[in-house]
This record gives sequence, C-alpha cells and structure tokens, in this order.
Amino acid sequence: RFFIEPPIVGDRALLTGSEVHHLAGVMRAKVGDEITLFDGSGCEFTGRIELLKKDRCELAIVARQEISREPAIAVIAGVALPKGDRQKWLVEKITELGVTELVPLLTTRGVVQPGEQAASRLKRSVIEASKQCGRNRLLEIGTPVRAQDWFVQVPASETRLLADPAGVPLANALSSNSPTRVYVAVGPEGGLTAEEVAAAKSAGWQSVSLGRSILRIETAAIAFAACLIGRGE
Ligand code: SAM
Repeated sequence: RFFIEPPIVGDRALLTGSEVHHLAGVMRAKVGDEITLFDGSGCEFTGRIELLKKDRCELAIVARQEISREPAIAVIAGVALPKGDRQKWLVEKITELGVTELVPLLTTRGVVQPGEQAASRLKRSVIEASKQCGRNRLLEIGTPVRAQDWFVQVPASETRLLADPAGVPLANALSSNSPTRVYVAVGPEGGLTAEEVAAAKSAGWQSVSLGRSILRIETAAIAFAACLIGRGE
C-alpha cells in the first residue's frame, strides 16, 4: 500500500518522495506492475506503473473502490502528549485502533508544546501506520489547544469522558447510552491540576477510571480507545 497526496482526481496519479523510494528501492517495482494506493479520502485505488524514476512514479489508475475500515464509533482523543518515541508509539497505536482525531492538549504540567515540525513528523507516523493496518482515512491531527479551553469548546450534547483514576468505571459511564461519537481527554505525566479537573467537571465532562493502576499517558489513551472502539464493533 502506498500513500498518495494530494487526493487522486481522474485516472492519473503521481507518487513522489519517500513513497517512491519504498516502491523502487525497497519493493523493487518495475514499469507495468500494479500497486494499491490510498489517498486518505476513504478510497483504495489500483495503479499501474507507467514511468518509474528515482524521485517520481507516474501511474494510470485502473480501479477505484470505496473501502471503509473505520470503526462504528468515532473517538476524538484530546491528549497531553508524551515526549519522543512514546509520542510516536501513541500515534501509531491509536491510528491502528481507528481513532478519528488526536487533539494535542496544552496543560499546566504538560512537557510537550507541539510545533509545526512535530505535526509533520506525527503525520508521517500516521501514514506509516495506515499503510500497515489498511486504514483508508488518516487519523486527523488537530490544532493544539489549552485543555481548559477544549473542555468548554466541545459541545455539551456530546459524550465527553475525562480519564481520571478517581472516576467511575467506563462500563458504568456508558451503561445508559451507545454513542456513535465520544470525546476523551487524557492528562499529562504529572496529572491535570485541580483547576483543570474542575474546569472539565463544571463543563460537564464525566470522570472515568480505566482500572486501579496509574497508567502512563499513552497507555491510558490506547486503553480508552480500545475499550470504546471494541465496544462499538
Ligand atoms: N500523578 C498523576 C495523577 O495522579 O493524576 C498521574 C498521571 S497519569 C501518568 C497520566 C494521565 O493518564 C492522567 O492524567 C489520566 O488522565 C490518565 N490515567 C492514568 N491512569 C489512569 C486510570 N487508572 N484511569 C483513568 N485515567 C488514567
């Protein structure tokens, strides 16, 4: 599977950059071979290689199919991101699980202030994970937002769950409804401040526990997504 950007329009496509290196250098593809392409729009394409150079590959689109591998429940995860490899791992795993959007939360005790470079690195991790897991829509990386602002911005009509070791079990929180979209929030390594928790609660977010252990940020986000998405299937 190869990722192509911008989205495919018509019956021609051009592959560039690291995807061509993967195709020519690693997969040893040749003119005439047919490969699977996806562009993040939800479609999968069969492309026949017509020209293959070191830095570009021209393709004729010979088939196009809409194939959704999205879960039945949309999870929008606001997370105070961990650093370095743990951040990359988090993005890879929530992409595989089918999380719809990751919103980087800026918190008082958070250690990461995501910039533009980080966003493009994260997007690369999303693409790599999507190539591997078969997803045809990309996990969206939202604009970083102050947690306290996000708690009030998400409409009160939505299901909004705050990961909190002192909360109620997830099964209890969702016992009376089966939402098709859920917003979840996960705090930083040092935890959310009392003020941040109070802001979430006064906006109507429900505190939910994921067990008795204190989980690292990425474990909490992945566990949350897995429980919700698994429940919706
Ligand atoms: N010392 C911090 C505290 O007591 O809150 C620990 C923070 S924990 C490493 C990072 C985040 O993961 C927390 O802010 C919370 O959102 C989430 N989390 C960790 N363990 C959890 C659990 N058992 N249940 C629900 N959320 C949890």
